[in-house]
Amino acid sequence: MKLAARVGQVTPSLTLAIDAQAKAMKRDGVDVLSFSVGEPDFETPSHIRAAAEMALAQGKTRYGPAAGEPRLREAIAQKLQRDNHLCYEAANIVVTNGGKHSLFNIMMALIEPGDEVIIPAPFWVSYPEMVKLAEGTPVMVQTTTESGFRITPDQLRAAITPKTKFLILNSPSNPTGMVYTPEEVRAIAQVIVEQDIWVISDEIYEKILYEGAQHLSIGSVSAAVFDRTIVSSGFAKTYAMTGWRVGFLAAPLPIIKAVETIQSHSTSNVCTFAQYGAIAAYESSQDCVKEMVAAFTERRQIMLEYLTSIPGFTCLAPTGAFYMYPNISKLGINSLDFCKGLLETQQVAAVPGVAFGTDDCIRLSYATSVENIHQGMERLAAYVRAIG
Ligand code: GLU
Repeated sequence: MKLAARVGQVTPSLTLAIDAQAKAMKRDGVDVLSFSVGEPDFETPSHIRAAAEMALAQGKTRYGPAAGEPRLREAIAQKLQRDNHLCYEAANIVVTNGGKHSLFNIMMALIEPGDEVIIPAPFWVSYPEMVKLAEGTPVMVQTTTESGFRITPDQLRAAITPKTKFLILNSPSNPTGMVYTPEEVRAIAQVIVEQDIWVISDEIYEKILYEGAQHLSIGSVSAAVFDRTIVSSGFAKTYAMTGWRVGFLAAPLPIIKAVETIQSHSTSNVCTFAQYGAIAAYESSQDCVKEMVAAFTERRQIMLEYLTSIPGFTCLAPTGAFYMYPNISKLGINSLDFCKGLLETQQVAAVPGVAFGTDDCIRLSYATSVENIHQGMERLAAYVRAIG
């Protein structure tokens, strides 16, 4: 059987592939330390698990509306109003199988063959592949360590053509951990409006911030940009709910209707009782988030101290998410070979920057224990000494 051409254009997700490899090595008894996949190591908070268990016990096990449980859509709309100053109604929300599914569905709903999508690099591994699957053209705009991995309004303006459909903005960023300041978000918003394009704002890491960094939702900047904004987010990173697969999109009604139609023919509703866990996540105390962010803060500091002291590494101090993105170009080795050698000789898993569009960097997730970070960074330093 001949495969569809669209499949030939995309590569499997390297983040998931490396995670699977590290987990398989662990199962085989290898002492692997993984800094690869971006997955909080905490248990999902007990009140969220209890809410899902209760829903299960109460028989919330049937099909539900394709766009999501009405109470969850309402809780999400309220959260967006309360935290992000975005005036959405429950009808403007669709619940999806995680943030990845949100993004995939929105690409399917909006992109026509030949449409261009602007993606600042480094970018999360799946953005360009999703654009290609939807038969669009990803247009990368390169940022560097020197520019703090953030695009400027002039760079954005220069990348726009008559075929541009939207920009994907991801702040805090995966893989760099960089956060656009409110002023920078306002400046980007001005270009969006002036050039009459749209923005998909991937805000999945919005609650994971350090050193006073602030998250400004681009849609809250003005009514004009709100009308051109689609928000993608989910529960995985904030509430340690990666396996639950609950995310959402917020957008103008016709777009939500289109995504609902796509879901009605593809996935139907998200697991019903999982949605009740998500309702509890938003309707209960946010202390659990504060506790997890406090733990990430300590881990970030420890990892940063190691990475800034390794000769040959240049590492910025990220103020969001749970990733470090050191530049390794002074070592004269590409990111894939670096990570391969690191895994084979020191049993430390990291993701090569080539997956994120920059072959001179590697990504390390610090969503793992302090003990693992100490051990792993010692091994990383030993590896760099050995290849140096
Ligand atoms: N978003 C996480 C990461 O970048 C999870 C893996 C994935 O979905 O790619 O590691």
